[in-house]
Amino acid sequence: MRRKIVAGNWKMNGSKDLAQTLVGFVRSQAASLDNGVEVVIIPPAIYVGDVVESAGDVLSVGVQNVGQWGSGAYTGEISAEMAVDQGCNYALAGHSERRQIFGESDEVVAEKVQRILADGLHAVVCVGETLQEREAGDAEAVVASQVQKGLAAVAPDQWQRVVVAYEPVWAIGTGKTATAQDAQAMHASIRNVLSEMGAPADEISLLYGGSVKADNAAALFAEPDIDGGLIGGASLVAEDFVSICRSVPASI
Ligand code: PEP
Repeated sequence: MRRKIVAGNWKMNGSKDLAQTLVGFVRSQAASLDNGVEVVIIPPAIYVGDVVESAGDVLSVGVQNVGQWGSGAYTGEISAEMAVDQGCNYALAGHSERRQIFGESDEVVAEKVQRILADGLHAVVCVGETLQEREAGDAEAVVASQVQKGLAAVAPDQWQRVVVAYEPVWAIGTGKTATAQDAQAMHASIRNVLSEMGAPADEISLLYGGSVKADNAAALFAEPDIDGGLIGGASLVAEDFVSICRSVPASI
């Protein structure tokens, strides 16, 4: 059965205090969730140590980005190996903000995915179309290409640590959400692409991201191919994030 996951991406937000208070609250609530959801906190790298400490063995922790290299003269970068060393078990790759603001190509995303998987982390690989691409009718082709290129070098024994997050760019941080039906259609298409790539598509968790809130999460998570969510803004509000975690049905 596929893992159900809700991951909170704090982006460049948060503080040492939030790493203690919010994560402490989420941990206390998550311990009593009976829907089997795995809750992942993805803070800025500088707070990973604090979050790992607050998370205990109830929550998982991830990093938002890693360099595509093992180590060396890359000022400002952190490696997947360092994330493991700090107690992380997840890393994002290909977030649209990394693609758009930092110019990361599909090839760089693929290199980062390789590094993340080689060092033993789970890779949450983000894909999604812009509004222009959706309006041009190209959404499925754009997303399929990102999946194919970003995951091109995944070895057969690494698929179990791959998670794909479908995040339409026009829905991130905008308050606009894809309808549950549109998101489901794209997830089904992604699963099809994964299957064509020879991946164990039915076992790969597909998360939806893009303005998921406490009041729209349940409808999204009720869809058969939506296995949880990647949450930005709402992951910074403890009660909202917990409510989203609760919205995952017990059997998806
Ligand atoms: C994200 O950053 O991955 C995201 C989905 O953000 P938001 O929930 O704020 O749209």
